Amino acid sequence: MNKKLPASGLLEEAQQLFDYTQSIRRDLHRHPELGFQEKRTANLIAEGLSRLGMEVLTGIAQTGVVGFLEGHASEPIALLRFDMDALPIQEENKVDYASTHAGVMHACGHDGHVATGLTVAKLLKKYQNQLSGTVQFVFQPAEEGLGGAHEMIKAGVFTRPKPKYCLAFHLWNERPVGWFGVVSGPVMASSDAFTIDIKGRGGHGAIPDQAIDPVVVVAQLIMAMQTIISRNVSPLESAVLSIGQVNCGNTHNVIPDKVAVKGTIRVFTPRVREHVLNRLQAVCDGLALGFNCEIALVVEKLTPPVINNQEIAQLVGEITREIFKGAVIESDYRTMASEDFSYFLEEVPGCLILVGSRNDQKGFLSSHHNPKFDFDEQALTNAAALLAATVLRISEFS
Ligand SMILES: [Zn+2]
Ligand SMILES: [Zn+2]
Repeated sequence: MNKKLPASGLLEEAQQLFDYTQSIRRDLHRHPELGFQEKRTANLIAEGLSRLGMEVLTGIAQTGVVGFLEGHASEPIALLRFDMDALPIQEENKVDYASTHAGVMHACGHDGHVATGLTVAKLLKKYQNQLSGTVQFVFQPAEEGLGGAHEMIKAGVFTRPKPKYCLAFHLWNERPVGWFGVVSGPVMASSDAFTIDIKGRGGHGAIPDQAIDPVVVVAQLIMAMQTIISRNVSPLESAVLSIGQVNCGNTHNVIPDKVAVKGTIRVFTPRVREHVLNRLQAVCDGLALGFNCEIALVVEKLTPPVINNQEIAQLVGEITREIFKGAVIESDYRTMASEDFSYFLEEVPGCLILVGSRNDQKGFLSSHHNPKFDFDEQALTNAAALLAATVLRISEFS
């Protein structure tokens, strides 16, 4: 970065754009769109970037948008990624910017991510002549378990020369505004979805000896699965195994013939992942043998863990300290939540920054994915200043 421009100057500039950032965020919040359906959102982004004179590509992986802010060289020096999609949740907030789409809500903060992305583009436009290379803005659809990042990469986000670094942020309502999670190494877990189908033999509820009751089997299975984390994974490692769905039976006096179970597995390392999956398979096989039924386990790999690059995380940490005097910066924070920015990090070294957005006094205290989720919009300004400052610093040594 130009020495005449301390990073803290960017916070002031981002602050001056607060009304713009807030109006975009609230507009998107009123009009949330689910993954791969973000048409209105994509139009708004494309317009915003085009107005800055940027080259804009649309329709990448259906609704993705990519913008290029060209510096002295056309090779990208940094890629910034912002996710766009909402969730199938009915909003319960009574605010004038509440969702106008029944059953759809920005309950993860991706409306804020898009607003921040456009704000960063505005901030960096002013310093375009200081950029040593091109900054690639990637607005990605369908982060919420639909594989949007992977689709964007397949669709050719990296067809031009790969940027040196990639950056993203996620608003974080588990921590107050003014807090930053800047972590070197793993920060968010991998996510696997699993389905278990238990096939027994249906029958009369009063004649269980003629049936093979899969309801009793699933009860055993659920309890046995709890021991995988508590008894098989080292207490010094982290793993989660949660069941989100159990489907069986229709009435009180019929033993059903099958049960379907769906759940999620979260870990930080391939080694622990393999261990958990091996144990899960063994528990299923053992119960099938013991109860004389069939148990089929299918695992779907959704996202790898988010693993930040040490060098870039250190740089982001330094800039955070420079911009936000007295900020709380946690460098050993981890969450079992997952984020498909991990696919970008598999291609290019980079950093996903967690930006505190909770504010108990203002009533913004609900977790992500909650129908009452809302956040302190100051966090968007903080994120915009931090991302813009980091790109300018990267530009200095690129
Ligand atoms: Zn989410
Ligand atoms: Zn999210």
